[in-house]
Amino acid sequence: MRVLVLGSGTSHGVPMIGCRCPVCTSTDPRNRRMRTSAAVRLGDKTLLIDTTPELRLQALAAGLDRVDAVALSHSHADHIMGFDELRRFSELARCAIPVYAAPATLSTVFRVFDYVLTDESYHHFGIPCVAWHPLTAPVDLWGHRLTPVPLEHGAALATGFRLDGPDGAALAWCPDCRGIPAGSWDLLRGLDVLFIDGLRHRPHPTHFTVAQTLEVIREVAPRRAYLIHMTHDLDHATTEAGLPALPSVAGGVRLAYDGLTVDVVPRS
Ligand SMILES: [Zn+2]
Ligand SMILES: [Zn+2]
Ligand SMILES: [Zn+2]
Repeated sequence: MRVLVLGSGTSHGVPMIGCRCPVCTSTDPRNRRMRTSAAVRLGDKTLLIDTTPELRLQALAAGLDRVDAVALSHSHADHIMGFDELRRFSELARCAIPVYAAPATLSTVFRVFDYVLTDESYHHFGIPCVAWHPLTAPVDLWGHRLTPVPLEHGAALATGFRLDGPDGAALAWCPDCRGIPAGSWDLLRGLDVLFIDGLRHRPHPTHFTVAQTLEVIREVAPRRAYLIHMTHDLDHATTEAGLPALPSVAGGVRLAYDGLTVDVVPRS
C-alpha cells in the first residue's frame, strides 16, 4: 500500500486567512497545509479518504487522476465540502464510485449533496455518481480489508480507518480525535504506519494535543507514526526536531506534510 498525503492541515488550513504569524508567512513548503485527506493506493486502485474543500487543487497537485472508492471520516465541513469534485472522478471511471462512511455521516452528506446520482444508467455526467455504503464492520476492498475505527471527536464520533493489505501490511488514518474509545485500542495495534490527529500544543475540546497524541502512539506502538490535521501553531521543522524518541516506535514519529508519500510494508 502507498499513502499519498493530500492535505495535513486543520479546518482553517495553513496559512490561515488574515494571519501573519511566522508559520503562516513561512517559506517552508511543509508549512503550507491544505485540509487533511489522503489517497491510498491499494494495488492498482485508489481509495480517497475524505473530500476536502480543496479536493480539486489537491488532485491536480498530486496528479490524482482516478478514485475507485471514497471513505469519509465524519461530516465536518473540512472533510466533506469537496464532495462535488467526485463528479470528475465518476466521469473518468464511468461508473458509480462507492462511498463508505458511518450511517450518521452518510445521512449528513446525503442531505448536503442531495443532487448526487446513484443510478449510473443515467450517464448524466457532470454530477457525482456514487453508491452509498454504510460502514459498520470491516469490508473487503480489492483484497484489502477496510476496518472502521470509532474515535471520540467532542460530542460526536468520527471514524478512523485501518487498512490491512494482502501482504500483511497495515496502516491507520485517524484524522479528528480527542479520545480513543475502549473498543478501538486493539484496532490500532500491529500497524506499520499510524497517521493521527496532532492538532497543536494548546488543549482543544475536540482534538488531541501533540503530547496526548504521543501518548496514544507510545501505547499502540506502530512501527512509524505521522501527525496530521495540524494548525499554524506548529512549525514543521522546529516541532519535528522537538519530538521525543519513543522506544516503542522504532521508525520514529514525524509530522506529515502535503505531498508526502509513505510506502506501507509489512512489519518484519
Ligand atoms: Zn477536521
Ligand atoms: Zn498563522
Ligand atoms: Zn472534525
